[in-house]
This record gives sequence, structure tokens and C-alpha cells, in this order.
Amino acid sequence: MEEENVAKEEGSEIMPWINEKDCVGCGVCVENCPVGTISLENGVAIIDMVNCIHCGICHDICSEGAVKHDGEKIPDEVQANVTKTKEFMNSCAKYLGDSKEKQKCLNRMMKHFNKEKIVAEKTLEKLQMLKTE
Ligand code: SF4
Ligand code: SF4
Repeated sequence: MEEENVAKEEGSEIMPWINEKDCVGCGVCVENCPVGTISLENGVAIIDMVNCIHCGICHDICSEGAVKHDGEKIPDEVQANVTKTKEFMNSCAKYLGDSKEKQKCLNRMMKHFNKEKIVAEKTLEKLQMLKTE
């Protein structure tokens, strides 16, 4: 694979995932993945993310639009975080025997996600510095 084909315009570097419903098992992504980390299982492409280098080629060449961006999972991930927080709140109230624990739990979870946000922001700052190298 030529290097210019690997370089992608900004925004197309992705954490890819495959929507099984859209994959027709053509194998084009399998043939073109530069590190050979895509395989077909039961007629559907599967990515082994351990070896994926996030080049975006599979996303760009899939004619079915079956290879999706990480960004498309944001609503689901947000909802999962909300659901998990509600479960923790209920568990705190149940096991600590005080309904006030619900709000304490909520505050802890908000601190947790705020910490995650700060980690992401500071990581982005560091990554931005790599662009000048
Ligand atoms: S190129 Fe698209 S449709 Fe073909 S196997 Fe890969 S993900 Fe499935
Ligand atoms: S992003 Fe690149 S390395 Fe990762 S699965 Fe797709 S083609 Fe392979």
C-alpha cells in the first residue's frame, strides 16, 4: 500500500467499527487493511482492534458504508454513562441505607466524568504539540 493512500485528511482518522447489518462480506476491507487485522467471520467483517493502526482505509473503501466512525457511538456511550450512573445511585441508596447517598453518588460520578474530560483535554493539548514536530 502506497504511503499517500495511508495519509488521510483530517477527521478521517478513526477508531473503526463495523455495522454488521450493513456489511455484505465482500472482503475488500480484508484485502486492503495494511496490517491484516480484518477478517471475515460468518460473512461479516471483524476488526481485531489490538493491531489496528487507525489509518481509516477500511472506512474509506467500504462501498456499503459499513465501517463506521467512533463518533457515531457518542449518543450510545452517553446514554450508557447515564444508565450506569443511575444504577450506581440506586445501589448506593440500597446498600448504604440512605436515600441521601443517591445524590452523593451522583456527585462522585460527575467528578469522575469531569476528570475524564480533563484527561481528554490535556491529552488533546499534548497531541496538538505533536503536530508541530
Ligand atoms: S468492505 Fe465493507 S461490506 Fe465489504 S467486508 Fe468490509 S465492511 Fe463488509
Ligand atoms: S483502520 Fe486501517 S488498520 Fe484499522 S482495521 Fe481499518 S484498514 Fe485496518
